[in-house]
Amino acid sequence: MGEVSICVADADKIKFIAQADRSLAEVLSILYLYLPNANYSEGLGMVSYKQNQRLATVFSTGKISMTYVKDKQEAERLVEELRGLINRAITYHIIHGSPDPKLIDVKRKLSVKTVYDNLPRTNCKECGEDNCYAFAIRLTNGDQSLDSCKPLLSTSNIGKATLLRNTMQPIRI
Ligand code: SF4
Repeated sequence: MGEVSICVADADKIKFIAQADRSLAEVLSILYLYLPNANYSEGLGMVSYKQNQRLATVFSTGKISMTYVKDKQEAERLVEELRGLINRAITYHIIHGSPDPKLIDVKRKLSVKTVYDNLPRTNCKECGEDNCYAFAIRLTNGDQSLDSCKPLLSTSNIGKATLLRNTMQPIRI
């Protein structure tokens, strides 16, 4: 188990830090390409992503931090899930090696406008947002999931859905 401290931005939540027993440098790009809403900094050696309002950051050194976590039990559950994810990324690396850097470039360049251009643009609000542009912003920020846009699943939108999915999640682990 790791260290627990209080979140600076929300005193009702905890910050949890754990340490893997190995370097995670080779799996960062794999996690980035698998997690649709992840951010990746090669310079800082870290990948971060949001999961149900929790923010997880994985460092190349093996350090793992989670903020906005409810309590220690939730932290333990989240770490266990992350352990499974990291093990799958390690297996992916053993089988396939490092992913093509072009996939990272394409994902990084995905703009709000490109997302918006590939949404149904009916402003139906089924996703819970006021309009498609708001959804595009929140999706790009990692605060929404592509699955929340149900109209995108219709056969007439399959090409757009595939393009967005393949850009945001080009590998499966
Ligand atoms: S559900 Fe899809 S089509 Fe409807 S407002 Fe949200 S993003 Fe636009």
